[in-house]
Amino acid sequence: MLQYLVILLSDKSVPFCHYENKNTGNLLSLNGLKDALRFSMLENLSVQYVFPEGGLPAEYLSVIEEVENVKIMPANSPYADKADVLIFNGLSNLNPIKQGVPYVVRLYREEFFADYEKLIPLFEMTPHLSVVFKDLIKFNENDFDKYKTVLENLSKTIETLYASGKTPQFNLLTDRMYLDKMRNCEAGVKTITLAPDGKFYICPAFYYCGEKDVNPLGIKNPQLYKLDYAPICRRCDAFHCKRCVWLNKLTTLEVNTPSYEQCVTAHIERNAAKSLLAAIRKHGKFLPQMPDIADIDYLDPFDKIKE
Ligand code: SF4
Repeated sequence: MLQYLVILLSDKSVPFCHYENKNTGNLLSLNGLKDALRFSMLENLSVQYVFPEGGLPAEYLSVIEEVENVKIMPANSPYADKADVLIFNGLSNLNPIKQGVPYVVRLYREEFFADYEKLIPLFEMTPHLSVVFKDLIKFNENDFDKYKTVLENLSKTIETLYASGKTPQFNLLTDRMYLDKMRNCEAGVKTITLAPDGKFYICPAFYYCGEKDVNPLGIKNPQLYKLDYAPICRRCDAFHCKRCVWLNKLTTLEVNTPSYEQCVTAHIERNAAKSLLAAIRKHGKFLPQMPDIADIDYLDPFDKIKE
């Protein structure tokens, strides 16, 4: 059942996941915005606004406050002090105007490998740091090795922070430690997106990539977006994996079949989380209700299925 309505206020609304936005200035019309808010009230959906860089006309700023909302903003937004989530583009300008809200850092893998240490100060500024790769589907075997090494290095910092009583949250390493079942993106299941053209899409990426719009109350083949109908994912224990249905469609042409790159990176993170959990537990009791994360002998669940 739908629970969240993401509203892209403009074609330039800041991308917050693997996709890119459009660099045109099209704003969602004011009437389109009011209709969307009416829809959210009728369907009892929580609204999440995605802001563009730069300012918005004053009438928009007052209409958006007519419902309770979450504001996702670029870190350089003129309204960043009011943001509920801040999005950073790369590692070159990590000087947040606001602390104490979740941060998302979008970057390319090479930038991450070269400059990942720049993330470390953020661990103590934000309740949750997410790193999202713009080029996840380009990871290759060489990158997987580098990724493993970088996550091991960041784990040491996080272990030290936990040992000193702090509890930084970092999507690539700590999310899996706290999960005992799948928690994925759920676009098309719990979340639907209203785009600046006034139409609904499975998620922002589907809009920006020219996919067809959907009827939010009558999505065709809705089961395909659900975990129960994802034969690989439903047997997987990389519980933190985004299970991005847009990347799935882009890479395998099926929304419920993941790409090799998505699975292997998620399993490298899962294994790093397993080691981190064990390391933190050497310092004292930690998450006693959670079982250890099991040893596995594969990085791509397809290998197990083939066996
Ligand atoms: S790692 Fe692969 S199989 Fe597991 S949830 Fe993610 S996409 Fe699905």
